[in-house]
Amino acid sequence: MTGRIIKNYSLGEVADFFKSYGEKEYRARQLFNWLYERNASSFQEMTDFSKELRNRLAGDFILSPLKLVENLKSAKDGTEKFLFSTIDNNFIESVLIRNDTTDDGRLTVCISSQIGCPMGCRFCSTSKIGFKRNLETGEILDQLCQIRSITGLRNNNIVFMGMGEPFMNYDNVMKAADIMNYSFGFHISVRKITISTAGLTTEIERFIDEKRPYNLAISLNDTLPEKRIINMPVEKKYPFEDISELLKRKFPVSRNRVTIEYVMRRDNVSIDDARRLNKIFRYGRIKLNLIPLNSGESGFEAPSPEDAERFIKELVLMNVPLSVRKSFGSDIEGACGQLSGRMYGEIHAVQ
Ligand code: SF4
Repeated sequence: MTGRIIKNYSLGEVADFFKSYGEKEYRARQLFNWLYERNASSFQEMTDFSKELRNRLAGDFILSPLKLVENLKSAKDGTEKFLFSTIDNNFIESVLIRNDTTDDGRLTVCISSQIGCPMGCRFCSTSKIGFKRNLETGEILDQLCQIRSITGLRNNNIVFMGMGEPFMNYDNVMKAADIMNYSFGFHISVRKITISTAGLTTEIERFIDEKRPYNLAISLNDTLPEKRIINMPVEKKYPFEDISELLKRKFPVSRNRVTIEYVMRRDNVSIDDARRLNKIFRYGRIKLNLIPLNSGESGFEAPSPEDAERFIKELVLMNVPLSVRKSFGSDIEGACGQLSGRMYGEIHAVQ
């Protein structure tokens, strides 16, 4: 469908291609350097390869599977949103968040792992698109390559929090994360790569058991199962209570850092919510990340500043380890799926 995308392959797999060409294995490291360190936009730039080898690579592989369609920049905080088209005419989004001046020098890229998403979260614009397909490893990595070449900036933090449920595309996502971490890849620290899931218990256990070194973020968003199931249908098959039990069982043996994500809304910041949350944070290196609602088209209301403050104070009094994320890009359709949703809307409108 998308042909042979060179960025789909690990260093070992690329070395095998070179061997089959009769070339030395070290060529694989040179190629990775061109792809991820020097961010080459064509095989012809790779001047330490012979002309014959460059032509052969160009004939056998696609270098960049994504094309920029739209780039929006927030006048408020410099957050940039990128809409890309894929070879098979689908759309994905990525976001560059400049929290370098406000936090700890981070320049974060939020990347997509699927085209659309099958999880059906009620508050999410991506879920309205439906599910098209998983992204290939090369399509995940090319989001970073494209953003680096468009902006000239080198991000140092990656979150898999864009379109899609990363754990439904487990193998491609892990392969992409490994290449991001390779010293011959993007060379980004494992502590700066975060995989976010709506809560697929089986894959969370697999991730921990495989000793994947990346940070893990799990979206909770409601403390009552009967309420969570309405907003996040994943609760039906994978109740959060099971995840909670799993984390209790696996910690403190696991070395993973886990964040529980909680988007604050008008209807989920009661004192009872704070007390129920407190029960989850009695073990291990688990932190609560409170996120202001990016309302978009979600139909939910943000809490009043007084209610949010009372909720946070209550959690602090109970010694719940927490951070409050700043809201970025509210003036550029910051929530993932909004731009793509518009594109699919326009496509459907002309069909
Ligand atoms: S919030 Fe994440 S998991 Fe839920 S529908 Fe949206 S993209 Fe999918």
